[in-house]
Amino acid sequence: MGDANTIRFLGAAGTVTGSKHLLTVNGRHVLLDCGLFQGLKALRLRNWQPLPFDAARVDAVLMSHAHLDHSGALPLLVRQGFRGPIYCTPATKELAAVILRDAAHLQEEEAEIANRYGFSKHRPALPLYTTDDAEAALRLLETRDYGAPFPVNGDIDAIYRRAGHILGAATMELQLGPGACTRLVFSGDLGRWNRPILRDPELVPEADVVLVESTYGDRIHSGDAEAALARVVRDAVARGGALIVPAFALGRVQELIWTLRRLEDADAIPTVPVFVDSPMATDVTDIYLHHPEEHDLDKQLLRDAKRAPLRCREQRIIRTAQESKALNDRSGPMIIVSASGMATGGRVIHHLKARLGDDRTTVLLPGFQAAGTRGRALAEGAREVRIHGRSVPVRATVVTLDGFSAHADRDEP
Ligand SMILES: [Zn+2]
Repeated sequence: MGDANTIRFLGAAGTVTGSKHLLTVNGRHVLLDCGLFQGLKALRLRNWQPLPFDAARVDAVLMSHAHLDHSGALPLLVRQGFRGPIYCTPATKELAAVILRDAAHLQEEEAEIANRYGFSKHRPALPLYTTDDAEAALRLLETRDYGAPFPVNGDIDAIYRRAGHILGAATMELQLGPGACTRLVFSGDLGRWNRPILRDPELVPEADVVLVESTYGDRIHSGDAEAALARVVRDAVARGGALIVPAFALGRVQELIWTLRRLEDADAIPTVPVFVDSPMATDVTDIYLHHPEEHDLDKQLLRDAKRAPLRCREQRIIRTAQESKALNDRSGPMIIVSASGMATGGRVIHHLKARLGDDRTTVLLPGFQAAGTRGRALAEGAREVRIHGRSVPVRATVVTLDGFSAHADRDEP
């Protein structure tokens, strides 16, 4: 670790995952984000390498938002000796708890399966980190509100500004060095303007150094996306089968439900049963309700069971795997919203397996589908897809709707 004032970019060159920036001012170190590498296997393997700096000598972490590619390596940082505060906004703290516990759980599960079937080179196969590691990181989270300056260490002051990307996401303005020599802005991921639910990004004032990870500064025409969604729902109901929507639990599910409810209230679509089959999406929706500072939704209305904008008229939350399986016996028009968003895993796989062969089924892909995923295969008109080692014929109607693509989603849950 050098003593000059420097920023080291420790993410993967040429990709936007694994965001980690070591900021050194007057010989003291602060980390901006601490994400996991995601995507192709060669990239994911980099998560197993030791962090390229002494974690115990980092004073603090400033987190921009809760997505795994910005937060997912925090448990590793703590395991390697970091003990300082991890600053984030209040909504990010709650989301990080859901996301890091889920990530640890999945890694433990994967290691267990690898050990049971012996398909790992490593014996025993170990999780990248455990639930205990995740809990140790979560205990270090300290919240700071948007717009309120706070000292990070003796050499850095910070302010969070709303980034409009996901719930809790922030752009950081940093004042470096005593006497305020340099102003640095770190964007994390930026959101779009005019999106459903979340407030717009705040304009960031001038700075000496700006670190922008990715921008989605374009304005989407939400009216067009809404009209397109209404058409998809009406056609799906006319076919008489289920409308299955693979969607990311964090953000996408809430935007979809919000839009469906608006369409119901405008009589643009018929009221049919809507099943939200994702415990994580349900937890995330609760976090939306705890954080009115993030959106303009009416607080009174949010608590009104009949009129709440983040639920459909006939919405059912599916919690257990048993309830999820029971949906297979149900026929007639209905909407099933379930993770993951590119049909790479999660409960949506079971619904696709059960219903892709039925020509009354409609599948709506509401966002970007990465190469190599089942979602991409479906979007490109595959006549069959492989699920659980079996070939499943595709007789369902598959529709893609890009208006809901607010982020290049990568591997989010
Ligand atoms: Zn993000």
